[in-house]
Amino acid sequence: MLIDTHCHVHEASYPLAVDQVKQRALENNVRAVICVGTSEQSSAEAVAFAQGSDWAYSSIGVHPHDTKDGYDMISTLAVQSPDRLVAIGEIGLDYFYTHSPRDIQIKALESQLQTAMNADLPVIFHVREAFDDFWPIFDNFTGLCGVLHSFTDTQVNVEAGLMRGLYIGLNGISTFTKDIAQQTLFRSIPLDRVLLETDSPFLTPVPKRGTVNEPAFVTHVASHHANSRGISFETVAQATTANAQTLFSFNV
Ligand SMILES: [Zn+2]
Repeated sequence: MLIDTHCHVHEASYPLAVDQVKQRALENNVRAVICVGTSEQSSAEAVAFAQGSDWAYSSIGVHPHDTKDGYDMISTLAVQSPDRLVAIGEIGLDYFYTHSPRDIQIKALESQLQTAMNADLPVIFHVREAFDDFWPIFDNFTGLCGVLHSFTDTQVNVEAGLMRGLYIGLNGISTFTKDIAQQTLFRSIPLDRVLLETDSPFLTPVPKRGTVNEPAFVTHVASHHANSRGISFETVAQATTANAQTLFSFNV
């Protein structure tokens, strides 16, 4: 059994028929997905999508790119504690694109971390080219747990994350990167800290490059890790599923 811990199939703009996507996921034993919000609207859609579902869970948050358009709704939504809400995110800092000014990104991150503390929920982080600013902010909030989603940074920052008890989210990038150092780094992360994700519709893994990504394809991310570590698919599936259930506190 596998869990796709990060996808955006709940969004109105997701290009595939979601019933069929769910069907293909279940046929591949992908028994649960976390639908991750990226804006106020996307978060509301994630909550609505997961409500009453037997497959999808939701996470609410405003991605650093979108913080300039507002994030107050996240705390309002969190206190309503909607059915199947399991995390706050994706939130963080992105200085690679800087679609929102840095000071707004920082304020939004702090506000949403407070929401996570108040709601006692784990956090799904998006951090790109911004770890120097990120760690001091993270360290101001004691007791937070979470995942560094779509991690592609350095050994130093993977260690900084592990030291703080964070999980590391790996996706299709690990199947197609040509960067040997990055491959070595992915392989070196202790299996009890790895989460698998697709980030659908983005980052389609090998051998499905050129098609729209969907949760069923998390199986390809799992096989890649099994091969690269020289361990069985079953070992990867069991470990990463247990990690997801531990961090997000649900059972499937
Ligand atoms: Zn994402």
